Amino acid sequence: METYVQRFVVANWKMNGSQQLCDVFVSRFSDFNFNPEVEIVIAPPAVYLAHMRSAIMSSGLPLALGAQDCASGDNAPSTGDISSRMFKEVGARYVIVGHSERRALHCESSKIVGIKANAGLRGRLIPIICVGQNNRPINRETLTKQCRDSIPMNSHDFIVAYEPVYAIGTGIVPSNTEIEEAVCLIKDTVGDAVPVLYGGSVSPANCSEIFSVKNLGGVLVGGASLDPDSFIKICEVAHRF
Ligand code: PEP
Repeated sequence: METYVQRFVVANWKMNGSQQLCDVFVSRFSDFNFNPEVEIVIAPPAVYLAHMRSAIMSSGLPLALGAQDCASGDNAPSTGDISSRMFKEVGARYVIVGHSERRALHCESSKIVGIKANAGLRGRLIPIICVGQNNRPINRETLTKQCRDSIPMNSHDFIVAYEPVYAIGTGIVPSNTEIEEAVCLIKDTVGDAVPVLYGGSVSPANCSEIFSVKNLGGVLVGGASLDPDSFIKICEVAHRF
């Protein structure tokens, strides 16, 4: 991981977007004042990665690409799956694993998430590992166990995104004290040097408040990342902190 990166802003498009949105997104960033301390990552659906990569390359902008989920193995008779090496080949630098939607809709346990995080590292991607409890308040034991089981073995080259499920797509955002408690707990579990991001209903309206959380490594943005203007506003605020 680049050591000078202080903060991450990650756009998780989930199963949304189009080639046209890739083009619009990149062109909206053309007069953005980039700062190497803030890494801006766009994670479109897998089928748009190559298109997004060529749009980024022709613009010359320092936007990074992320994949959403990867297979737990490498080459395998596994119809429909995509390995981390394949994502790397089409330009991804990061891979989001363990998102609560994968955990819920695809029955992925923390053990599977840990295996996928290892697979990401084998493909030379940096895993962004999502963790988070379903409801308030934080259950310290559950969150600690989820973190322990979801992280790769023998590496600190990963990122954790704290995403409480009740906050995803709902407009409900935990207080800064709650986020800070989670960040602290996660860092105690996975190591202080690992960046910990927050995700869940981040918007241009609330991101200044969220960025003021102590030791926060950035944000993972779902819904608001589909609107280039909203996402750019969040990136601008990230640059001010
Ligand atoms: C997410 O699902 O990763 C997410 C953070 O979504 P939203 O910003 O829409 O709550």
